[in-house]
Amino acid sequence: MTERGAVVVGAGPNGLAAAVTLARAGVPVRVLERMDEIGGGARTTEVTLPGYRHDICSAVHPMAYASTFFARFGLRERVQFVDPEIPFAHGLDADRVVPAFRDLQRTAEGLGVDARAYRSLLRPFVDQPDLVSRLVADTPLRPPLDPLGLLRIGLPVLEQASPLWNRRWETEEAPALLTGAMAHPIQPMPGLGWAAAGMVLAASAHIGGWPIPVGGSQAMADALADDARAHGAELVTGHHVSSLDELGDAAAVILDVSPRALADIAGDRLPRRYARQLRRYRYGGAAAKVDFALSEPVPWRDPDLHRAGTVHLGGPRSQMAAAEAAIARGEHPVKPYVLASQPTTFDPSRAPEGRHVLWAYSHVPTGSTLDPTETITRRIEEFAPGFRDVVLHSSARSATDLEAYNPNYVGGDIAVGQVGIRQLLARPTLSFDPWRTPAKGVYLCSSATPPGPGVHGIPGWRAALSALRHEFGITAEPDLSP
Ligand SMILES: Cc1cc2nc3c(=O)[nH]c(=O)nc-3n(C[C@H](O)[C@H](O)[C@H](O)COP(=O)(O)OP(=O)(O)OC[C@H]3O[C@@H](n4cnc5c(N)ncnc54)[C@H](O)[C@@H]3O)c2cc1C
Repeated sequence: MTERGAVVVGAGPNGLAAAVTLARAGVPVRVLERMDEIGGGARTTEVTLPGYRHDICSAVHPMAYASTFFARFGLRERVQFVDPEIPFAHGLDADRVVPAFRDLQRTAEGLGVDARAYRSLLRPFVDQPDLVSRLVADTPLRPPLDPLGLLRIGLPVLEQASPLWNRRWETEEAPALLTGAMAHPIQPMPGLGWAAAGMVLAASAHIGGWPIPVGGSQAMADALADDARAHGAELVTGHHVSSLDELGDAAAVILDVSPRALADIAGDRLPRRYARQLRRYRYGGAAAKVDFALSEPVPWRDPDLHRAGTVHLGGPRSQMAAAEAAIARGEHPVKPYVLASQPTTFDPSRAPEGRHVLWAYSHVPTGSTLDPTETITRRIEEFAPGFRDVVLHSSARSATDLEAYNPNYVGGDIAVGQVGIRQLLARPTLSFDPWRTPAKGVYLCSSATPPGPGVHGIPGWRAALSALRHEFGITAEPDLSP
């Protein structure tokens, strides 16, 4: 047992980022993961046919280059990425597809009369990549000291969050393209939290791109785990933690769990007021996922969909807004927003020669038990007639299956909590150190802490830095480089 060392509960990217940071500082670390494999939301495995490796949760990594933690960790030296020339493309209808190139200018040129409107909205982000990275590397309560830069970013966010969000557009193409990227947070739109999170995501396509790791997301989790182990951490799988009492007298416990699970696991160790705040934390809409094994590539009608790393099938902005509103009311939309990625276009190692894997999910109401296979298949068929004929096998997970797979996804909420403005600022509670709980030595490092969902490792790194300072008296940031 790691007496007076640290225990990390959960080996998702954030738990592993915490383990790396602690181990690099010389703290003895033990990681306890309930599943038989490490990785959490960054796992790649066979779920359809032998030889077809699927990303179970995350597949595409807009934050891989923008994350301050990954920059310090030297992720790009440890994991090979491919950078699709078209990070994402949007399916408006059977005849209209809009590509987003990595290059902002080239993207704008394809948007006709809305070229200038699109460019001017995203230019402040693209011109200030360091500011964007610094902004998401800490709690939003401690923004970087750059009022002018923040104002340049803030104004477009405020515009897209307001009822005036359509004012600048003359066509359906540009707002649909933008909304497809912004719709990743499963959230009614428009809204301030939605626009803030969504615009950073949309802009990241034009800053560093939306890279895809060779070998799948597991490669990122493995790089973190290898480094943690190399610096003395012990990783134990198949160990579900139900109570802090199981963990001996570790000086720090860092939990990669939902606020609800934190309240259960920490029990009486948490002050009642804080526990009540955790119980009141609100979860958002859910995802339902299908992995397909394919005999040949998806027969997209439009060539740009073949070249896109991620495909958004959402129709016009109004259709996506209506679908998200239906989800918030607890209804399954008739035309749901579907995200799809065929990583084998860029990384053929994941399937037998000439064959492909397709990752796809749609947004559904929280707690949905719907098997999304038919809905997603029909949506893809609109843009790729004959898709059904190339499917060799598929494996589906409803929203409730996703929660059973990983209890962090409460009701199937893959963001571990709504990303409205309230819960972007108070995630999970309002604090300048939201990773540190009021219980001595107990820390939270999941996506329920800033900057929220995604594979970027920032919550794990921040929680570990706080624990190093408060429990081990270590104030210098450990060197994380390869
Ligand atoms: C379908 C889907 C698609 C996604 N797509 C993307 C994407 O393309 N790009 C992107 O950046 N993000 C994506 N995400 C989100 C991303 O996967 C998560 O934001 C990220 O994995 C969060 O990391 P984490 O370490 O906080 O939590 P997780 O990755 O959820 O890891 C938590 C770990 O803790 C373990 N655990 C939980 N409770 C306990 C316990 N009591 N005892 C022991 N172990 C426990 C879990 O088993 C899990 O391994 C997606 C998520 C889903 C579900």
